[in-house]
Amino acid sequence: MKAMSEQDIRTSFVNCSRGEAKRLALPRDLAEQPWDDLDFLGWRDPGAPDRGYVVTERGGEAVGVALRAVAQQRGRLHRGMCSLCLTTHPGNGVALMTARRAGQAGRDNNSVGVYVCADLACSLYVRGRKIPDLGGRLEESLTVEEQIDRTRAKLSAFLDKVLA
Ligand SMILES: [Zn+2]
Repeated sequence: MKAMSEQDIRTSFVNCSRGEAKRLALPRDLAEQPWDDLDFLGWRDPGAPDRGYVVTERGGEAVGVALRAVAQQRGRLHRGMCSLCLTTHPGNGVALMTARRAGQAGRDNNSVGVYVCADLACSLYVRGRKIPDLGGRLEESLTVEEQIDRTRAKLSAFLDKVLA
């Protein structure tokens, strides 16, 4: 994806108020992000660990979604799989995160959940730029390009539900 500025990101959120979007904690090193290798920029708020954010491009526009992690206590023997990039992680390495839906549905407290890599670094796992700690990736016959397309398609399907 193309590099985004703080302004691009703050104005992209579809499921939180303008005030929340203005205050939320952005990654400090925006200029240093590996943009060329990202299907979406995802991060957790270090000051509020249950909060996560995903920003991507859709039809040439930035779309950002605020997420809340659902508290789950899982032992190291538990293994979960990210529903976007299909990487498996032990323990709490896969988080159930919920997004309030956009518009009236969200004001009516409707949300959509997704199991996702807790560090939201799916793009890097798919490309082999980040190796899951004690987790793994399935041996697949798909090429990396095809796996990237699949990850994007799954993210897009999730965004469809948030925006519907
Ligand atoms: Zn993932």
